[in-house]
Amino acid sequence: MAYSYEAPVSQSLFDRASVVTPGGVNSPVRAFRAVGGTPRFMVSGTGPYLTDADGREYVDLVCSWGPMILGHSHPEVIAALQEAVSRGTSFGTPGEGEVALAEEIVARIEPVEQVRLVSSGTEATMSAIRLARGFTGRAKVVKFAGCYHGHVDALLAAAGSGVATFGLPDTPGVTGATAGDTVVLPYNDLDAVRAAFAAHPGEIACVITEASPGNMGVVPPADGFNAGLKELCAANGALYISDEVMTGFRTSKAGWYGVDGVRPDLMTFGKVMGGGFPAAAFGGRGDVMAHLAPAGPVYQAGTLSGNPVATAAGLAQLRLLDDAAYAKIDAVSAELRSLVGEALTKEGVAHTVSAASNMFSVFFTDQPVRDYDDAKKQDVFRFTAFFHSMLEQGVYLPPSAFESWFVSTAHDERAIERIAAALPAAARAASEATA
Ligand code: PLP
Repeated sequence: MAYSYEAPVSQSLFDRASVVTPGGVNSPVRAFRAVGGTPRFMVSGTGPYLTDADGREYVDLVCSWGPMILGHSHPEVIAALQEAVSRGTSFGTPGEGEVALAEEIVARIEPVEQVRLVSSGTEATMSAIRLARGFTGRAKVVKFAGCYHGHVDALLAAAGSGVATFGLPDTPGVTGATAGDTVVLPYNDLDAVRAAFAAHPGEIACVITEASPGNMGVVPPADGFNAGLKELCAANGALYISDEVMTGFRTSKAGWYGVDGVRPDLMTFGKVMGGGFPAAAFGGRGDVMAHLAPAGPVYQAGTLSGNPVATAAGLAQLRLLDDAAYAKIDAVSAELRSLVGEALTKEGVAHTVSAASNMFSVFFTDQPVRDYDDAKKQDVFRFTAFFHSMLEQGVYLPPSAFESWFVSTAHDERAIERIAAALPAAARAASEATA
């Protein structure tokens, strides 16, 4: 596919990057390989807008893959982190900021009695699984196809996100022994979970699931699915781990737990709670968390865990996320969903706008999407055409049909109008696209 518009400065930066970095990027989906064309190198962000190295401005519907829920460069977040930076950037000792952030998380999310801070969502899920194995004395982990939990070796089986984008069922470098204790099941299928517990009695340490998946596109849990998982785990002596790295502090004040109220044994967080910095966490039942070093025998550590600048940014962001902020994000999301749906309908493009609270994505199919296999049946080539038309018109969508779109409190009427103005041509491009 040829693109009529150019990004010469981004292209030259990408050329330089490709010499010194594999594929030119530090996280695969950024390379635009699923959609083709030149990845945009961004130089600044303000409110709902990003500006690239060629000086073009975009309405941002990626929001750094979730974290920038107040938009870019929010003045109060910037002020908090500048104040923190002025006192030093890392001490390798405990500090008050990390206590305050942990208190904020515990106060917001009732099942979290204790929390440990880490630096990425990957570390959070990896550590939660180690803890579940240490606590139960069992080896096996159940995960669902299309759920992405970071690049944890044992969880890179039928993962979504970048792995979905590249269509890799697995990745070289993960040994059979490592993946051998991972049981991968279809999403939204409680019978499959029942069968797994029956096939592996006393062997399953935990079931990990995205609280509401956003890494195969947005595929919410069917009614009763999470509650059923919790019940089956409890009945079989396994822990129920809810991965809220994406949904946490986004889908409501208390994340997806605030939406469905199903009480996990352990939870993982990242993205929003770091305010744009590398901060993440895992937490949950006090008796389970008590097994973590130095209180207990399960080792887990991090040189930069609880970093004072990251915790200051995260705490400032969380404190600004009150009921009014979530009402705003929900309203922006609802408005965009209906604008996108209307534009695609007008052009006769088969589609499903799939939402989980304020997270949403568009599947280019009119068939129901309940799991990863369904998601893969969409007309990805139509998304590609839609994506490039939006990009050309100054709207930055996730460069993959298998990712959630994210909005922020900063998406105001002007930003929405710009998106609305771009949609008719993008819908036409999707309708005219050929496989
Ligand atoms: N879990 C979920 C649900 C995610 O969406 C992600 C990242 O997108 C991760 C874990 C991994 O987080 P990180 O990229 O910070 O390692």
